Amino acid sequence: MALSGIQIYKMLPRTNCRDCGFPTCLAFAMKLAAKQIELSACPHVSDESKAQLAESAAPPVRLVTLKSNGYEVKAGNEVVLSRHEKTFCHKPGLFIRVKDDETAADIKAKLAPAEAYHVDYVGLDLSLDGFAVESVTGDASAFATAVKAVGEVSQRPLILMSGDPAVIAAGLEAANNETPLIHAADVDNWEAMARLAKQYKAALVVNGRSLDELADLTEKIKGAGVEDMALNPLGDNLSQRLALSTQIRRLALKKNFRALGYPLFVAPANGEDAAYQSILAAQGIAKYGGFVVIDTFTPELAYPLLVLRQNIYTDPQKPIQVQPGLYEINDPTPDSPVLVTTNFSITYFSVANEVDGSGLPAWLLVAEAEGMSVLTAWAAGKFDAERIAKDVKRFNVADQVSHKRIVLPGHTAVLSGELEEELPDWEIKVGPREAVDLPAFMKQVLA
Ligand code: SF4
Repeated sequence: MALSGIQIYKMLPRTNCRDCGFPTCLAFAMKLAAKQIELSACPHVSDESKAQLAESAAPPVRLVTLKSNGYEVKAGNEVVLSRHEKTFCHKPGLFIRVKDDETAADIKAKLAPAEAYHVDYVGLDLSLDGFAVESVTGDASAFATAVKAVGEVSQRPLILMSGDPAVIAAGLEAANNETPLIHAADVDNWEAMARLAKQYKAALVVNGRSLDELADLTEKIKGAGVEDMALNPLGDNLSQRLALSTQIRRLALKKNFRALGYPLFVAPANGEDAAYQSILAAQGIAKYGGFVVIDTFTPELAYPLLVLRQNIYTDPQKPIQVQPGLYEINDPTPDSPVLVTTNFSITYFSVANEVDGSGLPAWLLVAEAEGMSVLTAWAAGKFDAERIAKDVKRFNVADQVSHKRIVLPGHTAVLSGELEEELPDWEIKVGPREAVDLPAFMKQVLA
């Protein structure tokens, strides 16, 4: 039974030391009761209280981590139903599925482009997370061969899919994974699957057609010693799956119903076309999926799913930033102009794309402005002459160019006088207000 904030408060040190970031122990206790922070944020809780608070401190959705050769996929630990309430913590892992009736050569040929796929999205490197191998032959050695073939292409985490524990055992032997995910336990095989999960330290997907069935199975499997599970609610269509997924997450978060407090598993049935797979995957990403499987890899299918996932799992209170530094555009020479902007990613890409598209070479100094756009950063005191001058020196701009001329964004013309004082031997130019006008400015004013 979950403890109230007052009950938790009585077990805290009650020194109001603020080391947790809250002004009082009571404020911390209230947040802990609401599942909005973790007990580890208070470094002073006694071991005795930790043990007593373990139930309240446990996240309502268990964190499940798949590990393989330095790669990790984490799912769970979520504490809110909607992103605007706080933020979602762990992006769902995206997996591509192959089947063991394909030859090893076909499997490798299918997976190689998926393994190599990376896309640069506003400065972020997005890629897929792992692969799933499904037994459709029912043959343990064919399954092991398929698992080995995947391992020769990728070191990423694996999902092993079969309802037959003997087949799964062969796959686990063949897999070079520290923590794979087994799919799946059900009412008929859960004891054998739980034994395998325990023996190989694997996580276990639990299949169920209803909430009662899922909750009953997770309790039994937990009793058998397996903690890391994922839930696969078997709806017949998108609507049923969405309803079941939402009910599971609501019960976990709002009612603290531990038996359903696990990440969700989402995979299309065999034979679903690429359009259905993409809709199901998008639904899974948007609504509580922790591990999402698709059969088809093409860049045009993977890209929107990766971008959707990135947008949903980005903290709306933290702007996406690019790394401050001196960026080269169109192979600049020492004569090329030096432009300045901030490290808000949309600002950076607006400026960089306009200059890049013009074909004109330039050095772009991206100044540290805590990820804010030019005007916002200037108004907040995060983009001022002192900071710009500091970054001119930090990134050795003078060593790259044969001139000493720097172009400020037009919106911050007011900084030019102060920047002249900070950089006395530099000529300060004021550029246009809008990035779209930069090419004309560079041709007419800087040429
Ligand atoms: S760190 Fe612990 S003891 Fe200090 S104020 Fe926070 S809850 Fe209280």
